[in-house]
Amino acid sequence: MATDGVVQAVKRVGLDAGARVVGVAAAEAFRAGVPEGFRPEDILPGARSVVVAGGDGPTAGAWRCPDHRVMEITGYDLRENVAIHAMCDYIERELGYYAVQAPSLPVHGHEPPMSMMHAAELAGLGTRSFAAHIILNPEYGLLYYAALITTLPLPADPPLAEPACPHPGCVAMYKRIGTTPCLRVCPACLSGTLKDARIETSTYDREKCHSRAQTYGIGSFQKALLAVVNEDDAGRRREMIHSDFFAKSVQSVGFFRDSIAQCFECMRVCPVGRKHRKLK
Ligand code: SF4
Ligand code: SF4
Repeated sequence: MATDGVVQAVKRVGLDAGARVVGVAAAEAFRAGVPEGFRPEDILPGARSVVVAGGDGPTAGAWRCPDHRVMEITGYDLRENVAIHAMCDYIERELGYYAVQAPSLPVHGHEPPMSMMHAAELAGLGTRSFAAHIILNPEYGLLYYAALITTLPLPADPPLAEPACPHPGCVAMYKRIGTTPCLRVCPACLSGTLKDARIETSTYDREKCHSRAQTYGIGSFQKALLAVVNEDDAGRRREMIHSDFFAKSVQSVGFFRDSIAQCFECMRVCPVGRKHRKLK
């Protein structure tokens, strides 16, 4: 097992490359909740550890822009991926162990081979929330996660002892009026109950959310393309191809931004990590 000094050195490389937080999970911790074929050792034989990096996504300034569409265009830096590659390089070149970025996008079909949400939970970086089951970090709230798998045996961080959601303010609001900020802002997609200041039940309608939060992507491009090729009228076809919807769909595929959201309303009202979005 690597020493604490090695763990801290790996984490420092990730933090210096732009990650807000870095945590470590043991590869074997995935066995309890992940079926065979989707575990770290199925991607990297001999895997011992999974290192997870959380990045900010939109800047505090992007959150303030009155045109919410700006976040979709320029709000992300995706540096959690850069941090992961910097740590992979460090582990391979300086320490001599294998490392590979954990696949968070589908290699075929529609499902990614590994869940970054589950990896972040196991690495002690956050817990599932009422809001679209997004993993909230107790300090920074919404973060975007990437991970690496390595044969380097690293001591693991424990999962969080206390959940990041519900925030004490949300518990007080629930006691008062029976709802929380996120549930109130999106009743179409979210519902749930609290008991003893913990999530008791939680429902997230992913299909409804997808139609609002991920309007443009591979799916919308396929849908729009089908409509274009089935259109007999040449003038109408031209209009469809030059429409805002088709152009945005092509753009989203070109920039590979399929999974980046167009709706942030449940996170906009969430108090967890909000202090980091209040600047001068
Ligand atoms: S992202 Fe938007 S549509 Fe989806 S759950 Fe949150 S508020 Fe609702
Ligand atoms: S608004 Fe409150 S209840 Fe909703 S996700 Fe944030 S902390 Fe949880």
